[in-house]
Amino acid sequence: MRFICDSMLGNLAKHLRILGLDTVSIKDPYRLEPYKDAADLPFFFTKRTKAFPCQPFIFIRSDTIEEQLNEIRNLIQPFINPEAFMKRCIECNTLLESVAKEDIEAHVPEYVYHHHEGFKRCPSCKKVYWEGTHTKEMKKWIEYIRALK
Ligand SMILES: [Zn+2]
Repeated sequence: MRFICDSMLGNLAKHLRILGLDTVSIKDPYRLEPYKDAADLPFFFTKRTKAFPCQPFIFIRSDTIEEQLNEIRNLIQPFINPEAFMKRCIECNTLLESVAKEDIEAHVPEYVYHHHEGFKRCPSCKKVYWEGTHTKEMKKWIEYIRALK
């Protein structure tokens, strides 16, 4: 399942990626290709009140990330899979690749380099991820979304 967020929901897009969900941010919803096959219909989240001609969409009312996740919890909960942890770049949605520790030495703080193993890198924007603060943040949001009823 693919999720789409308009440009006013950039923070929501990041959090959906933290949750392991395939989430695209778009600037101009009018340029979206219409999805012809209903089985492929993505969830399209927007803060724009005006309806789009060819896309079904889900209007997000809240401005805080906690409330936004709460609004869509029933939609996203079935797609959350702990196996998807640390698989996707939070910034650009690209699937991460494992990278040799020595290859990222120049790209992470010295303390991180010496105290962590298991680095991953986004092949698109080159952001480097490691087990640590990112993982804690992910687990926090996974627990948050699971606790919503
Ligand atoms: Zn990236």
